[in-house]
Parts: sequence; structure tokens; C-alpha cells
Amino acid sequence: MTTAPAKPVRTRFAPSPTGYLHLGGARTALYSWAYARHFGGTFVLRIEDTDLERSTPAAVQAIIEGMEWLGLSHDEGPFYQMQRMDRYREVVAQMLEAGTAYHCYSSPEEVEAMRERMREAGEKPRYDGTWRPEPGKTLPAIPEGRKPVVRFKNPLDGEVTWDDFVKGTITIGNKELDDLVIARPDGTPTYNFCVAVDDWDMQISHVLRGDDHVNNTPRQINILRAIGAPLPLYGHLPMILGADGQKMSKRKDAVNVMDYPAQGYLPEAILNYLARLGWSHGDDEVFSMEQVCSWFDGTHLSNSAAQFNIEKLNWLNNHYIKQADNERLAALAQPRMLAAGAVFDGAPALPAVLALMKERVNTVNELVDAAMLFYRTPQPDAALMTQHLTDAVKPALAQFAERCATVEWTKEALAAMIKEVLAANGLKMPQMAMPLRLIVTGQLQTPAIDAVLQIFGREAIVARLAKFL
Ligand code: GLU
Repeated sequence: MTTAPAKPVRTRFAPSPTGYLHLGGARTALYSWAYARHFGGTFVLRIEDTDLERSTPAAVQAIIEGMEWLGLSHDEGPFYQMQRMDRYREVVAQMLEAGTAYHCYSSPEEVEAMRERMREAGEKPRYDGTWRPEPGKTLPAIPEGRKPVVRFKNPLDGEVTWDDFVKGTITIGNKELDDLVIARPDGTPTYNFCVAVDDWDMQISHVLRGDDHVNNTPRQINILRAIGAPLPLYGHLPMILGADGQKMSKRKDAVNVMDYPAQGYLPEAILNYLARLGWSHGDDEVFSMEQVCSWFDGTHLSNSAAQFNIEKLNWLNNHYIKQADNERLAALAQPRMLAAGAVFDGAPALPAVLALMKERVNTVNELVDAAMLFYRTPQPDAALMTQHLTDAVKPALAQFAERCATVEWTKEALAAMIKEVLAANGLKMPQMAMPLRLIVTGQLQTPAIDAVLQIFGREAIVARLAKFL
């Protein structure tokens, strides 16, 4: 897989719209997308919505929104399986005609009874082939009024083998496989059959999907062979486990991709995290999507389940927040700050505040919490004020306030001025910085006081000091 594939690369992401876009699905989408981008191929989005009871338009919307937020743009589609019913019926008819599929009139009760017999005999339960036509075999009389299903005539012998580009060679004996129902009595096609027809029609060259589909692959390969379709190459990705090493569940893990923007994660952090969760490029931990696309050639995919690790995601999110343009962060932070009661009128410019605060936060929400100190009226605790605004400090603060009127309003000049005032009054830095912090922000924990003062601006500082002195 290190050399360019011979045929044009066409990959697909084929979610069933029964819920939101979850992390595992997003990783499958990312790998399929990156693989197509790497080889200058085409990435197809296909919505597998034939399960009418569980599929909803809201889930389709949620999946598309998730893909858009991550920037995983598709080149073709979305194709909806429900809009391709005529095509599936056509292929079923062709297979009946060609003898690769047959009508089966066994009732569900009969099928269950034959399965039960096999279970009792210690065999693997499967359809016993009652209605499977063979040369020289006489089929039973068709029961009156019964509508047949259509079954695929799976090869009886031999095996199905494919070189999975994640798991290596996988071989499954045809004896393990049933004569799959490909159309129900009302003519609606079934899951594995639709996937095979779609992969054929959409000329999919590489199928990357979760390894919960490994059991479907030999069935799909047999159907593809029977309809004369070329076989895609398959890669089955191991699961993503929760932080506790168990299967991820929405009860205990944040599995919905679209919960992440609300929690203040940037899409590039999620993408970087997912890219690394099951794939590697040397020892690299931080990479852009341009780099992923240029490196992602189907090699270095891990064959063992990856475990979700929020600390690592937080570390990446911190990295991307530090890198992010401050205007972009401001656009993300402002609505959240307004909701938290921030007052922007006459307050410092948000991008400058975020630039000061973003070093140590893991999420945009933490950034918002940190930045709020510039956007609400400080209400210093009275007891803390008494403790820090002592008689020894008051004259120094008064001098400081006076000099604020004329000092050059830069961080450096402010720092120098504070030093002079401290020296003139025989004080140490915390003695003045603590009450200053309380007066200006209402809290004792802030970034460096000179930076805080500079950002607030002369007018605001003079006004706040005047209230207390
Ligand atoms: N629709 C399937 C799912 O959501 C994926 C099928 C496939 O990739 O072949 O799990």
C-alpha cells in the first residue's frame, strides 16, 4: 500500500443515520477522506438510511454538520440508499435471471425451526438450502399465497480471503456463510446487498470502516463477485475504547463529535487527536491536516484498539488554542461571554485579552472563564480588601494612581513605575500587587499585573482606583 494504487482512488464514508456523528465514525471519515486526498482521489458520502425505524432526517443533518465542522468535505454525494431502491430491485432481478440468487418460500417459522434443529445437532445454525436450486434437484411445490424472499446463492465450498490493509490477511470459509436474504417478501433489499451494489456503482476502490463490519465483508465480496463487480480493498479499523478501556458509551464518554465545539474544543484538535488514534507518522504527535493528507497512504494503521485519553486531547486543544488567531478565538468566545453576563462596553478589546489568557487553558470555555475578569464589574470581597489594602499600602497606591494619569501606557513603563513606587515606600511587590488586583479585577489570581493594567487601559484603571482611594 505504499505505492500509488493502480486504479483511481475512490473512498466513501457510509454512516447509518441513526444518531449523531460519533468519534469512531468521525475517525473512519477522516481516514477515508485523507486517503482519497493523499492519492488525489474522490471521497464519497453515502447515507445508509434503509433502516426506516431507526433512521431520521435529524441524524442525517447531525452527521453532515459534524463533517462540516471538522472540514471533511466530500466530493460526491450525499447519496441516499432510500433513493436507490429501483437500482437495487434491478440488480436483484438480474441476479435471479443469472441464477446467482433464488426465491425462497420457507416461512420465518420454518427457517427458525431448521436453525433450532441445527443448534440441537451442535451445528452452526443456517438456512438449509430447501429452495436453493441445483442441477437435477426438484424444488418443493410453492406454498399458496406465500411471498418469497430472495436469497443469495452463496458458494458452498472454498473460502473468501482478502488482504485487509489494517488487519492483514483474513480468510473465512464459505461453509460459515449462509445464503443471505437479499430482498424481503415486500421486495425491499437488505443491508449487505445494498452496500455491495453501492460500492460497485460508486466505483469504490478502498473501503475503510470499523472492524464491527469484518463479518459482513466476505458476504459483500461474494455478492460483488456474483454480480461481476471489481473488489475494493478493505481496511477494518479497531474500535476506540473509552478511557476505562471498555467499549465507549454515551453514558460515560463524550462520544458525540458535536458536543466538542460546545465544550470549547477546536476542530483541528479533534482531527489531530483522531488521526493519531489508530495511525502514526514516526513519533509525531502534532500535525496539520495538510500533513496528514500528504502522509496518509494506508500504512502505519494500528491493529489494536485505541483508548480514549482526554488529557491528550486537552493537550492538543491547548496547543491549537495557542496557535489560533485571536480574532477567531474572540468570535468563539464572545457569545459565550455575553451569556455569562460580560459587559463589553468600554472594556478592553477581546482579542488582546484572549492573547494574554490563552497560554494555560485547555478549552475555549476555560478561556472564557479566564477572560471574564476583564468584562464584569469587580466586586472585591470586603474581608480580602481589609486584609490587603492596609494603611501601609494606601499611600503607595495613591501615588501609583496619581502617576497613572501621566505614565506612558505600556507594560514596560507601568512595570518600571510600579518598581519606583514600591522602592519609594519600602514595599515588596505582592504588598501592592494584591490590593491592585482586587481593586481592578475583584480577584487575587490574574496574569502579570503590568499586563493586566495595560490591557484595561488608563481610563478604566484610574476610575477603578478612584473608587477605593
Ligand atoms: N453504515 C455502516 C455503519 O454506519 C457502515 C457501512 C460500511 O462502511 O460499509 O456502521
